Parts: sequence; structure tokens; C-alpha cells
Amino acid sequence: MRPMIEDIEVRAREELFINIHPIQAAGRLTPEAMKAIISYGDGYSTCDRCRKPFRLDKISRPPINDFHVELAEFIGMDHARVVPGARRGFQAVVSSLVEKGDSVIVSALAHYSEFLAVEAAGGVVKEVPLNPDSIIAGEGTAQKIEEVKHETGRFPKLIMMDHFDYLFGNEHDIHGIAKVAKDYAIPFLANCAYSLGVMPINGKELGADFLVGSGHKSFASPAPSGIVATTDEWADKVFRTTKMVGDVTGRRFGIKEVEMMGCTLMGSNLIAMMASFPRVRERVKKWSEEVEKINYFVDEFLKIEGNKVISEMPRKHTLTKVDTTGSFDKIARTHKRRGFFFSDELKKRRIVGGFAGATRQWKLNTYGLSWDQIRYLTCAFHDIASKYGINVA
Ligand SMILES: *Cc1c(COP(=O)(O)O)cnc(C)c1O
Repeated sequence: MRPMIEDIEVRAREELFINIHPIQAAGRLTPEAMKAIISYGDGYSTCDRCRKPFRLDKISRPPINDFHVELAEFIGMDHARVVPGARRGFQAVVSSLVEKGDSVIVSALAHYSEFLAVEAAGGVVKEVPLNPDSIIAGEGTAQKIEEVKHETGRFPKLIMMDHFDYLFGNEHDIHGIAKVAKDYAIPFLANCAYSLGVMPINGKELGADFLVGSGHKSFASPAPSGIVATTDEWADKVFRTTKMVGDVTGRRFGIKEVEMMGCTLMGSNLIAMMASFPRVRERVKKWSEEVEKINYFVDEFLKIEGNKVISEMPRKHTLTKVDTTGSFDKIARTHKRRGFFFSDELKKRRIVGGFAGATRQWKLNTYGLSWDQIRYLTCAFHDIASKYGINVA
């Protein structure tokens, strides 16, 4: 057998290509995070100076405690914790609030990990359908709550909604949904996996009881990493400390938080997240320029005859779903490489991240590309279209 190490290729996509992969764009590390990973890569590296009361978020060297305070402030919540991915944030909240048979309101575009968090707790998801504009709004949410009440005799225990969904990158009416949640006195989790860390987010202004973000999706951090935050009102419930006592030894573990399994994101992932934080803080201020760039791109993209954009227009997010059934897919039907002709052509122009072989509906994300790269990307699409005789207006 060959030693496996030889099969681990050097990964240089970000160095050698323009990467428009839908989920990779905003998780790309900063140089500071890369350095932190090397330096703190050893297992329990963050525990060098862990002192009583022995909890990750209390460590002051490196300043993990200050980071938690600043992070909560940055996202407009009272308390924040780091977790291994947004999904572990959903899990912490759902398992604190939901019991067997309870209903949880989610979006018809909810991420699978929201389903799993509810399933793990023994709950049942109830989806709010999209309105004709492919948006989830307060109205539909209220209607669904009434339906659930009518059907099960009980109100849902939690409302969990995506700020921007992963399928279209559409913005959903978080304010409207939060208002409905308040009217019905149902706690509300805002899933900001695609927004926290790329645009300014203030949880309390959004009306969220819980705010969840993803480090590896939108916070220039390694996987797994994420954020779960809440208000004073809910902190004691979701961040409750252990009450367990050993029956033989009488041991107790004081301030260890049950849902966090005591300590959560140990070692280099957390330190890398902290190392990226100053840049993340700055970059959210430039979100409007990211939106300008994607809108420039889609406007040019639509000049290719047969191209469509499936996401809402104008774009409010850099994650965008497009349809090239009427253009590049027509070429794929008779090309000997089928749909791969398109990824081949892109790759020749040093562009990667589209789903290999996909020429009908696919997603791209332009987050973090410079104007030069955006213009280059645009030209590349026009160039491929012209090469295959597709009209470009
Ligand atoms: C990516 C994504 C998630 C999962 O985030 P992780 O940090 O990988 O757990 C959840 N919800 C939405 C809407 C997402 O786009």
C-alpha cells in the first residue's frame, strides 16, 4: 500500500485561481488566521494558562475572555459562545428549548443542519412556504404558527429562520418574522450563517433571541467554527451550568456549561477566529461594495443570450443562483465533454468553484473578489459564450 500522505495534494486553489465556490468565499482565511493555526495547532494549546474556574471562555492568555465580550458586542447580543459550526449553535438552542413532539418553525429553504438539530431533540419541523417572490415573510410565518396550533393543539416552541438562505442567497424578512415571534411570545433564532462576518449584523436590532453564525462560512475561520449568541433573558437556559453530582465521588463540575460540553472550540480554530476578528470587523463595513460587485457581474452575465438569474434581483448578497440552460447547457448537449466543457473552459481561464459538469442551475459567490477580478470573471464568461457562438449583447 502507498503511504496515504502522498495522496494529500497541495491545495493551492486560492493562490492559483479565482475561486467562485458558493460556500468557500467568505471562510477563506486571513494571513493572521493561518499563522495562528500553525502556532496553536497542537491539541490543547489554548490550555497553557487555563486557571480556575477552568473554562475556555474565561482564559485570559491569550485573551479568549475579552474576545467573547467583544464578539457579543460586535453582533449586538449580551452573551456569545464559540461552537464547532453554526449547526452546533442550532443544536445548543434547540436541545435547550425543544422536547419530544414539539414543533419548530423553519423556512422552506432551511439548511439541513436545522432539520437535524430538531430531529436530534425529538422535535418536528414545520416549514413556512415561500411567498411568490421566494421570500419568507412575517405573514407566512404567522399563518404557519396558526396552522400548527390548529393541527397539534400547541404553539411551536421555537422559530428558526435564515437571514440569507443557502439556495438562492435571498434576504428574508427577519424583522417581520421577529415581530411575529414577539406577538406570539415564541423565541426566535436568526440563522446568520451567510451574513454574520460579511455584513453588519446587530442581533437585538434584528429582534433575535438567539443569533447563530458560521466561522468557516462567513468569518474567515477554519472548520469547524461558529458562533451562538443570546440575550440576558435566555442565557441561563441555553448556557446553563452543570448540576450533576457523582453518586460515588460527590464530584461536581461547577461552571461547565452543559450545551457547550464544558469547553467548545479549543486550540487553533478558536485562536484563528480571534486572529481574523479585527479584519472581519473592518470588512463588514465594506459590504455595500461587495453587493455592487455582484450586481455588476450579474448585469454583465445577463448580456449572454439565454442566461438567467434565479436569485432575487437586484442582488443583496454575493451568493447567487444562475440558470444557463438556455446558453451553456445547449452547447453541453452536443459537446463530447458534455457539461464538463464549461468547467474546462473556466479552468483554462483560471476560474474554479462552479460545480464540475453543471450547466443548468448552479451557484456562485463573488465575495472578496477585487474589481479587477470581477471584470476578469465577466470577460471570461463573455469570451466562452462568444467562442461557442452564443450572442453577447
Ligand atoms: C452553511 C449553512 C449552515 C451550516 O453552517 P455550519 O457552520 O457549517 O454548521 C447553516 N445554515 C445555513 C443557512 C447555511 O448556509
